[in-house]
Amino acid sequence: MAEKIYVTYNEVHKLCARSAKDILHEFQPTLMIAIGGGGYVPARILRSFLKQPGAPNIPIQAIGLSLYEQLGVSDNPIETPGTKVTRTQWLDLSSLSMTSLVGKNILIVDEVDDTRTTLEYAVRELEKDVQEAKERMGKEAEGMETRWGVFVLHNKDKTKKGTLPTDMMSGGRYMAARTVGDVWICYPWEAKDIEEHDRLAAEAEAKGKN
Ligand code: 5GP
Repeated sequence: MAEKIYVTYNEVHKLCARSAKDILHEFQPTLMIAIGGGGYVPARILRSFLKQPGAPNIPIQAIGLSLYEQLGVSDNPIETPGTKVTRTQWLDLSSLSMTSLVGKNILIVDEVDDTRTTLEYAVRELEKDVQEAKERMGKEAEGMETRWGVFVLHNKDKTKKGTLPTDMMSGGRYMAARTVGDVWICYPWEAKDIEEHDRLAAEAEAKGKN
């Protein structure tokens, strides 16, 4: 069984706080798209740290993606890595809504980049929708470039199945707060017993393992 690491709410908060400066430096997001459910909490925390005095809060939209080999595989919290991405929620595809993405700096937020399958799907499909919206807009969209960035709390240092655009990777628009090995990360919002979760995190910390 893979090694587990326990991440507390405080740690998630601090990872977002620490990353905000880099995100603002590399890429000034005008919109965040959180991949549910793991991207919701990090996106909301990040928003507080990305807020600039006098500027409005950065809006957060949500999409839901699941990666499963088959549904309901086991009781094991360490899910079997899947190969098929299923959309459980997507953006409002009305033309008014999609054209509002044209010309934006969009930061896609998720909790973890494991095989990269989900992130590849999200970037590819969202980009497709924006291109379609641009075509519908015609001349009005000329010169309006949509830039994509990715933020994750944890990137697992492993061979990836998915790929992200090279200009994103080389242009500093892929940002991971922490890089870890191929371990299983237990996030606080998944915990049934948060006291026990925090105790396990503290125990690992004391052993210098987390
Ligand atoms: P990927 O597409 O990069 O393989 O992973 C997609 C999803 O698998 C993540 O958004 C997350 O929901 C789940 N996942 C992968 N690794 C972990 C992990 O270590 N811990 C948790 N809690 N979920 C994970």
